[in-house]
Amino acid sequence: MSGRIHTGDELTEDRVLTCDVCIVGSGAGGGVLGLELARRGLDVVMLEEGGYHTRRDFDGDELRAYTELYQEQGNRATADLSVGIFQGRTVGGGTTINWCASFRTPPEILARWRDVHGVKGLDTQALTPHWDWLEERLSIRDWPIERANRNNQILWEGLGKLGYSRGTVKRNVKHCAALGACGLGCPTDAKQSTLVTLIPEAVTLGMRLYSNVSARRLELAGPRVAAVHADVLDPVTDRPTGKRLTVKAKVTAVCGGAINSAALLLRSGLTGRGQVGKRLYLHPVVVTNARFPERVEAYTGAPLTVYSRQFIDRGPGKLGWLIEVPPILPLLGAVTLSGFGPAHQDLMARLPHANAVLSICLDGVHGDEGGTVALRGDDPTRLEVNYPLEPFHWEGFREALKVAARIQLAAGAELVLSPHSDPVLIREESDIAKLDDAPYAPLECRVLSAHQMGGCAMGGSPDSSVVDSTLRYWDADNLFVVDGSVFPTALGVNPMETIMGVARWGSQHVAAAAGVKA
Ligand SMILES: Cc1cc2nc3c(=O)[nH]c(=O)nc-3n(C[C@H](O)[C@H](O)[C@H](O)COP(=O)(O)OP(=O)(O)OC[C@H]3O[C@@H](n4cnc5c(N)ncnc54)[C@H](O)[C@@H]3O)c2cc1C
Ligand code: SF4
Repeated sequence: MSGRIHTGDELTEDRVLTCDVCIVGSGAGGGVLGLELARRGLDVVMLEEGGYHTRRDFDGDELRAYTELYQEQGNRATADLSVGIFQGRTVGGGTTINWCASFRTPPEILARWRDVHGVKGLDTQALTPHWDWLEERLSIRDWPIERANRNNQILWEGLGKLGYSRGTVKRNVKHCAALGACGLGCPTDAKQSTLVTLIPEAVTLGMRLYSNVSARRLELAGPRVAAVHADVLDPVTDRPTGKRLTVKAKVTAVCGGAINSAALLLRSGLTGRGQVGKRLYLHPVVVTNARFPERVEAYTGAPLTVYSRQFIDRGPGKLGWLIEVPPILPLLGAVTLSGFGPAHQDLMARLPHANAVLSICLDGVHGDEGGTVALRGDDPTRLEVNYPLEPFHWEGFREALKVAARIQLAAGAELVLSPHSDPVLIREESDIAKLDDAPYAPLECRVLSAHQMGGCAMGGSPDSSVVDSTLRYWDADNLFVVDGSVFPTALGVNPMETIMGVARWGSQHVAAAAGVKA
């Protein structure tokens, strides 16, 4: 039996489907789960609220890409607008638009999940066969420093000059032409996203995927999910067409990603004894921009290929961070480069000379409670994210900015700019101290997030977590959450490979609930 990918315009009347497993979301978690269940012979229906976009649509137009492929058209943010949130919304989810960096989970994070949060059976040994499989299947290989673009070489050189640890990143690509457009969807299918790998394979095995279909509510009958109620969206306007899709499945797996999975549970009245939507972690990022005398052309070449975890562990109670660089495409640059008016215009005019360093902060491992997801009234399309930024965060951001500026100066930057509304200008080492006097408060210093985790945390007790160590919602027999939202903390590395590994490991439990042994 071969399945199909359907789009919203095909659903011209209300429909009711039955199947073994209904998966909500087609990203890193959902994509892996879909294949693993289809491979076991289960009848799978996958719902994806984003559209079905493929390489033929990925034309490098940034405006179109952010509008069509990202949550809230690229405008998602915390309620106070202090943290801008980038998150995928298309078939393939974040894997379609991410920057390909692939890391296994740091062992100390898995140990913390076990020791502090009571997670059972999920350790490096359990995940290794799944990572081995994923790395083979998704062609996850090292991207050597000789192939790094100038933006990444700058980070490599600066780290080396200062004697900091540094490494090259593994990427899930095959025949990558290093075009630099990963964040806009890969135009050559080189990126081994779930869109071009696991989802087509699952469809060949019979999975039915409905894009432009947004799950609005889970209907409960006692301790079981009886149906998933979804609205069909118009592929052009993204508005509900008024048609409904209802899926009646033996088992439901929510894979909508951190934030959206929590929102779906809340809309369904599933609060997880008050735990749903709590402990949302964002890997908050601060960015320093720098101007180099030479052309950097950070908008081309493989975007993210060098990293450092030198400052990931600064001791108890201190926020640590991972260091990487972003691609600087014109529109992304306009949003993330510092300053306003003529100063910003000047930076944009010199875009080919711009470099940027990301400090990606590891939240959730110091007892910090993270953020929350809540509903906004009755409108199923609206939700509210809050992420209180405490002195603990600002101290870490300030120290991270100092380190990043030092790296950029060591690599030859003629000017470094902090992410403040009124940027601190740093031309030499002695200017770095000026960062101590800059304002550290919401909207004074720009903070971003591309890695959302938590909100439906896994753990050892229903009083402190949402799903158990098999990813099953504590208070329902046939409901699972399989995506980044189950992480009890952030990771300190880019999350895709961890999410995929956990999903492949967890697929045995979902399959068992649907009546199939591993
Ligand atoms: C710009 C950018 C760059 C990144 N770069 C990297 C990188 O280099 N390496 C890395 O490891 N990570 C990277 N990430 C993060 C990574 O892509 C995500 O962490 C990962 O994809 C999350 O997986 P997930 O399964 O939790 O959710 P997602 O991949 O986000 O998938 C969830 C899917 O569910 C859909 N959905 C949500 N709610 C519903 C609903 N109610 N009904 C139907 N469908 C729904 C969403 O539209 C989405 O497509 C990046 C992210 C961004 C935004
Ligand atoms: S850098 Fe490689 S993976 Fe990324 S968009 Fe270009 S060809 Fe695709």
